Amino acid sequence: MTIGILGGGQLGYMLALAGYPLGLHFRFLDPSPEAPVGRIAHRVTADYTDEPALEKFAHGLEVVTYEFENVPVQAARFLAERVAVYPPAAALEEAQDRLREKRLFRKLGIPTTEFAEVLRAADLDAAVEKVGLPAILKTCRLGYDGKGQWLLKTREDVERARPELPTVPLIVEKFVPFARELSILGVRGRTGETAFYPLVENHHRGGILRLSLAPAPGLAAGLQAVAEEAARKVLHELNYAGVLCIEFFEVDGRLLANEMAPRVHNSGHWSIEGAVTSQFENHLRAVLGMPLGSTAVIGFSAMVNLIGELPEAPEVLRVTNTHLHLYGKEPRPGRKVGHVTVRADQLEKLQNRLQELPKFFHRPEFCLQEALLGALAKRA
Ligand code: AMP
Repeated sequence: MTIGILGGGQLGYMLALAGYPLGLHFRFLDPSPEAPVGRIAHRVTADYTDEPALEKFAHGLEVVTYEFENVPVQAARFLAERVAVYPPAAALEEAQDRLREKRLFRKLGIPTTEFAEVLRAADLDAAVEKVGLPAILKTCRLGYDGKGQWLLKTREDVERARPELPTVPLIVEKFVPFARELSILGVRGRTGETAFYPLVENHHRGGILRLSLAPAPGLAAGLQAVAEEAARKVLHELNYAGVLCIEFFEVDGRLLANEMAPRVHNSGHWSIEGAVTSQFENHLRAVLGMPLGSTAVIGFSAMVNLIGELPEAPEVLRVTNTHLHLYGKEPRPGRKVGHVTVRADQLEKLQNRLQELPKFFHRPEFCLQEALLGALAKRA
């Protein structure tokens, strides 16, 4: 059985690694001849808009899925006329536009940040007025990892941002003074069966995920159920199959949905070692219509992203229950080149192991101390 995957980055790489034990084969399509999956799977180099290439790509595939959320919706629709495509193209369409996404949350009764649209430059003042300062201005589309965002604390910030703004639809969101960021991964099979991983605590720097703790330590009773209900509603509404991630802000004991990703997600990488079934395996099971695997956790995990540079492998692997994942990408500033997962049966042991990581990881941008202090404080 061959699975087609649009996008050939590290998420695709890990999907293939999860699928090989199930006897699956993979064919990837990515515009870059350097896409990392080329090391381990058949890779077709073509643009997502190249319909003859898509036609050829689809031939003989069992199902097509994607690991990149900015795949043109038209490519997913074109393929869906030839082969099963999951998650459905409609999920891509909703998730690619922050405005649509927030409207969907609102329609489903999922609390979200206050927001206003800025479809043209002239709308900016009214939108800022409606939402109030401080706020964050974001491009509706194609922004990720903190790109295409302007923090507006004062009127002067608005004036400073104005000439820089691209002529594309924007959204102004109320700045949320969150206690922490959490995310949930839900998975729905083609049969409608659902399963949920525990909420994960995420730490970002410069808009990029740096560290995740799973399960989120010190979670108030009831929040897991709230997050699951939100994910269940979206999965059901979109007649979804596959893994879906929803990112939340925790503020005053409540969850506000920020955004969603219709794919496996960086905040679920811990599940490779930290859950009975990883997000990658469950995504494949879901899109193939197979029974889902248990999402139960195995102790506590911390996942640290390697961004732009790599540590010395032996120094990392020296730490008990620590796993290194390298994506085979050339290190460049701001580029995710790998991750490390540290696991332990008890939170206290996990904290000790994180302290034992080499000096490389103790710089502020890794958020290790921030996470340790937070986790410790919540336990006290
Ligand atoms: P996003 O691209 O929406 O995930 O934003 C990247 C990061 O910016 C988030 O993970 C937050 O740390 C921060 N951020 C985004 N939106 C808001 C908001 N409305 N209030 C406070 N922080 C935000």
